[in-house]
Amino acid sequence: MAEGQRHQVVVIGSGFGGLFGAKALRRADADVTVVAKTTHHLFQPLLYQVATGILSQGEIAPPTREILADQDNARVLLGEVTDIDLERKLVVSKVLGRRTVTPYDSLIVAAGSGQSYFGNDQFADYAPGMKSIDDALELRGRIFGAFELAELAETEEEVERLLTFVVVGAGPTGVEMAGQIAELAHRTLSKDFSKICTREARVILLDAAPQVLAPFGAKLGASAAKSLEKRGVEIRVGEMVTDVDERGLVVQKKDGTSTRIEAVTKVWAAGVQANPLGRTLAEQSGAPLDRAGRIGVNPDLTLPGHPEVFVVGDMIALDNLPGVAQVAIQGAKYAGKEISRRLDNKPPQKPFKYFDKGSMATISRFSAVALIGRIRLTGFIAWLMWLGVHLVYLTGFKNRITTLLHWAVTFIGTGRSERVATQQQIFGRLALERLEHGATEFVSPREEWGDVRAELEARAAEESRLTDSGERGHNRDKVGAEVGGSNTNASISGV
Ligand SMILES: Cc1cc2nc3c(=O)[nH]c(=O)nc-3n(C[C@H](O)[C@H](O)[C@H](O)COP(=O)(O)OP(=O)(O)OC[C@H]3O[C@@H](n4cnc5c(N)ncnc54)[C@H](O)[C@@H]3O)c2cc1C
Repeated sequence: MAEGQRHQVVVIGSGFGGLFGAKALRRADADVTVVAKTTHHLFQPLLYQVATGILSQGEIAPPTREILADQDNARVLLGEVTDIDLERKLVVSKVLGRRTVTPYDSLIVAAGSGQSYFGNDQFADYAPGMKSIDDALELRGRIFGAFELAELAETEEEVERLLTFVVVGAGPTGVEMAGQIAELAHRTLSKDFSKICTREARVILLDAAPQVLAPFGAKLGASAAKSLEKRGVEIRVGEMVTDVDERGLVVQKKDGTSTRIEAVTKVWAAGVQANPLGRTLAEQSGAPLDRAGRIGVNPDLTLPGHPEVFVVGDMIALDNLPGVAQVAIQGAKYAGKEISRRLDNKPPQKPFKYFDKGSMATISRFSAVALIGRIRLTGFIAWLMWLGVHLVYLTGFKNRITTLLHWAVTFIGTGRSERVATQQQIFGRLALERLEHGATEFVSPREEWGDVRAELEARAAEESRLTDSGERGHNRDKVGAEVGGSNTNASISGV
């Protein structure tokens, strides 16, 4: 720490861990810098509702800057952290070619996890995952677009392929996604099309594991499966995806036999991989990494050999803690408190202890499963609990109000307020990937800027000359005469 300067805390990430870590330092005698690669705090548990047209992206992704605006000791920096130098205590981040180096005295790393395709990243083009707003909007476009294309299809085979939706991964995200697509097809859209019958759409939920919702135990898993089947979802467990392309996917059973499912729309909700920053930390500290890329931390969530560095949330491997929001929130609060206590010269806290508040997953409207300690709940009561908990944890009063309204539209009525999807949302990412340097091309200094400037100056000079010399009207009349519209131009000139 430079002399006379306050203690500097850098927080990487603006998800559950990052946001709650920064907030926990509200009263600390320290400056807090949040560095994150998005400008928003994302409430991932409701991403599937953005993908299926229930909620808008703004409702689940308020700006981090706005959330922390009242916290005087906090500032927010946009940037993807590309390196952490543990020895020199520096965080390096980049955005669109701009590099920023932020020094720290204490560091909280909460960069979360990404989708894992188990070494088959090429599947991502055809089966997007659900980790970001971009993912959800792309999926929204693909799902609603499939119905539109089916209406235009000319053969029965084509209609079937377009009206078959496959969700890979029968964890909470897959279950919620499959339930909502089924509800879209069988209820919401049932009167919107004239040629196709959306009720005939197939929604398939696939998993290599032998049951649905494995983390909820066998009993609740079976109950969820029954409830999904009642709503028209086909469940295929014990089947592993071995190939994916534009028009379908290949699945393999345990006995080795493979079948192909023709389906244009695939959603990948199977498997997560911890953020690669875990590897950066592991390489420098010697901390172990597990198969999912999660880093082994000390019982007080610090990095081995680096008491000034805390790692929280989805990135950590500690006591088999699950990758859920509460692990990140509680871990971040613990880390924030520990930094404050050190600054106040107080003794350290006891090791981090996770308090399991339970897990929930919705099946469809009015139906959910919940596991709270030993209590297992299903159906409407579980759904009401799910509703209450999600409203409480959504950030921002305005967001809670509009979310409630959208839920009323969807669950009491049959509408979906957010069905808009643009071509950009569906194809934009692929287009950007084709540019050699991604979006950096649009904003970074280029050698040819000199040419561009010269062209812009010449154009401005010509515009100015045309106005000053009074040539504009003449030119327009000439063009108008050429296309036989001299009268029109005369009247325009007259105005
Ligand atoms: C679709 C879905 C549904 C879920 N449903 C539930 C649920 O119902 N209940 C539940 O408890 N949990 C649920 N989870 C899990 C829960 O969201 C995560 O466990 C939780 O978000 C983890 O918090 P985190 O802070 O570790 O990471 P995240 O919340 O993922 O935050 C990571 C942050 O780091 C930023 N970041 C990443 N890399 C970099 C980088 N290099 N530089 C700078 N910033 C970076 C990201 O932009 C983000 O802001 C769900 C997850 C998903 C994807």
